Amino acid sequence: MAKTRRSSATMTQPTNRERLCGVFGESYDPEAWSDWRWQMRHRLTRLEHFEAFLRLTDGERRGLTMGAERFAVSVTPHFAALMNPFDPSCPIRRQVVPSSDEFTVSRGDMEDPCGEDHASAVEGLVHRYPDRVLLLALDTCASYCRYCTRSRLVSQGSLDPLPRRMDAILDYLRAHTEVRDVLLSGGDPLLMSDDRLDTLLGSLREIEHIELLRIGSRVPGFLPQRITPELVAVLRRHRVWLSLHFSHPLELTPEVAAACDLLADGGIPLGSQTVLLHGVNDDAAVLKQLFHGLVKNRVRPYYLYQADPVVGTSHLRTSIEKGLEIMSQLRGHTSGYAVPTYVVDAPGGGGKIPIQPETIVGREGETWQLKNWAGKVYTYIDPPAAG
Ligand code: SF4
Repeated sequence: MAKTRRSSATMTQPTNRERLCGVFGESYDPEAWSDWRWQMRHRLTRLEHFEAFLRLTDGERRGLTMGAERFAVSVTPHFAALMNPFDPSCPIRRQVVPSSDEFTVSRGDMEDPCGEDHASAVEGLVHRYPDRVLLLALDTCASYCRYCTRSRLVSQGSLDPLPRRMDAILDYLRAHTEVRDVLLSGGDPLLMSDDRLDTLLGSLREIEHIELLRIGSRVPGFLPQRITPELVAVLRRHRVWLSLHFSHPLELTPEVAAACDLLADGGIPLGSQTVLLHGVNDDAAVLKQLFHGLVKNRVRPYYLYQADPVVGTSHLRTSIEKGLEIMSQLRGHTSGYAVPTYVVDAPGGGGKIPIQPETIVGREGETWQLKNWAGKVYTYIDPPAAG
């Protein structure tokens, strides 16, 4: 009898999805939930939204009040539904809900850690490596990661709309015949309409010396509903490679698996990048589960990034020592396909440096000297908490 009473009480608990729809005065409707435009219209962006769904800490409340001025806050209902509403240390929550820790500026923090602004060839086109460019397609994302390397740009409204910049970008690319690889990122290019994306990719494909088109996107994890057969057809037509971004195994939901299936069945090569984050995934068992899950979904984990020293993110960073320790617990202990390369994007614009004995040329406490592909030495400073 007691057992029956307990289970009926459990059944009446609203699910996270029901509670999230309730934030907007709506009932849970599976059809609406699976529509990516509905998801975009119902993103959590304001303190009241989060207050109605999460039991907030004082630090999170301050972060949502003041932090949002520095860097926009937005979370899709799909991603928010993965959060533990009662636990502020939830690894999903730590990635996208701001906290007052963002007001702390630590030694070595930088606005533009990868030195992209200095390498800007024309507005929204970064030419840092000889044969590769980064094209910033737009400045919006489905949700905003609190550790974003481009928080100075993303969501700030300072990037001109692409149609106004496109002529200059195409002229530059036509003139620079050494460029064979274009990475579209932002912001998230998969938030563009199918038609706009088709036009953009078509213009790039017309340039003969461009061999490889890649898109960097967190949409399959934040907004898997956006991965439709029509979008896959556009990506396939232009022979695009996708670089995805996942941080934690909880993100690999059935909807994400279905999105990855659509992409893989459509012939789109899939890789994933993961940023090493304190309190989210700085644990070998968690990362192993994530990488195994990705491989199962036909996504190759290819980079594990040491988090960039972006201003106000030291509470989310961990030490290089920790990263090395995790890598030693992965390498040789699982399939090679499930082990990414551990890299630092050299602060100051030195590009990606794999962390291995040959590239570590000096260390004093939390200060590391790392040598890049061109033999130049760059400094990375661990966050104070990890030092
Ligand atoms: S999805 Fe990428 S560009 Fe957008 S906020 Fe996250 S890290 Fe930054």
